[in-house]
Amino acid sequence: MATEDTARVCLITTGGTIASIYDSATHALRPGLSVDALLERLPKGLGNVEVIKRELFELDSANAQPYHWQQIAAAVKSVSEEIDDLSGIVVTHGTDTMCYSSAAVSFMIQDFGKPIVFTGAQISATVPWSDGPRNLLDAIRLAAFGDLGETCVVFNGEVHRATRTKKVRVNSYDAFDSMDPSPIGILARDIVLYDRRRHRDHTLVPRFDTRLDDRVFLLKVFPGMPPQILARIVDIGYQGIVIEGYGSGNVPTNENALTGNILQAVDQGCTVVISSQCAFGQADLSLYEVGRAAMEVGAISAYDMTSEAALVKLAWVLGHTHDEDRIKEMMAINYADEMSLAGR
Ligand code: ASP
Repeated sequence: MATEDTARVCLITTGGTIASIYDSATHALRPGLSVDALLERLPKGLGNVEVIKRELFELDSANAQPYHWQQIAAAVKSVSEEIDDLSGIVVTHGTDTMCYSSAAVSFMIQDFGKPIVFTGAQISATVPWSDGPRNLLDAIRLAAFGDLGETCVVFNGEVHRATRTKKVRVNSYDAFDSMDPSPIGILARDIVLYDRRRHRDHTLVPRFDTRLDDRVFLLKVFPGMPPQILARIVDIGYQGIVIEGYGSGNVPTNENALTGNILQAVDQGCTVVISSQCAFGQADLSLYEVGRAAMEVGAISAYDMTSEAALVKLAWVLGHTHDEDRIKEMMAINYADEMSLAGR
């Protein structure tokens, strides 16, 4: 393991606000800062941390597509195979879709045994009061020296498990929160990581598996939603739908009932997963008649997975199988601590 004296970290850049510049032609921000320009903005250098740089994309993460998740995972694989003694990886990324990309990497790369740290900024690193340099320094420090063996998001001094994270604030430096349980660590004078995180483990053999079926859809239920929308989504060719239900996963069953369309979707081979619109708590379809009815026509509960993690997991699972029973089995397996309820 790396000591506090020396470490080697690979920095993969993908764009985002952290690397944004103001474009005077469009009067808006767009990614454009090089990795060197980013590193130059770190306050006091990096001591004995050697940073190996990989510029992957210059993307506003609103433009990220599932194939970009695969490319990030592939980049992690190739650097980890090429470079000896790597202590960890840092991925700079836009905040808008960081929770999707980092969750995808969590499913695609398992048993890595070292930190894969996503970070970014709310304010461009070109601005004096940017949070970018601090977040990047924290991320490099964690990747270099943290006793962590999982994919996480580092932001505003907190370490969040990637599969449990949501962007919850547009403007504040505190952009991300962990959706139950709380963060897995903090970065202050010391690196403090809580017991329930995965530790570094050099004996693990990483498993890389980037297969995906991106024909998945995320649908938020709202009062008055026409249920036929579900049939349209299936007709277009989607193979999986995460429905964000109310509270514990409830959906309308009287007027504008969704249950008939869920049954039809499931009969047509489309997997229907129900998550909750609430940030905290879990989908428990057995609690109310309006949840049980969805379960009885074949919907699967996302339990306490975030909708983002459930969507990405569904795409990853469908990349492996289209067998109904196997999909159900895989959706219930806890691969990357995305659920706090099921066993691994
Ligand atoms: N639109 C930016 C992005 O996601 C926002 C950010 O990075 O904070 O790339």
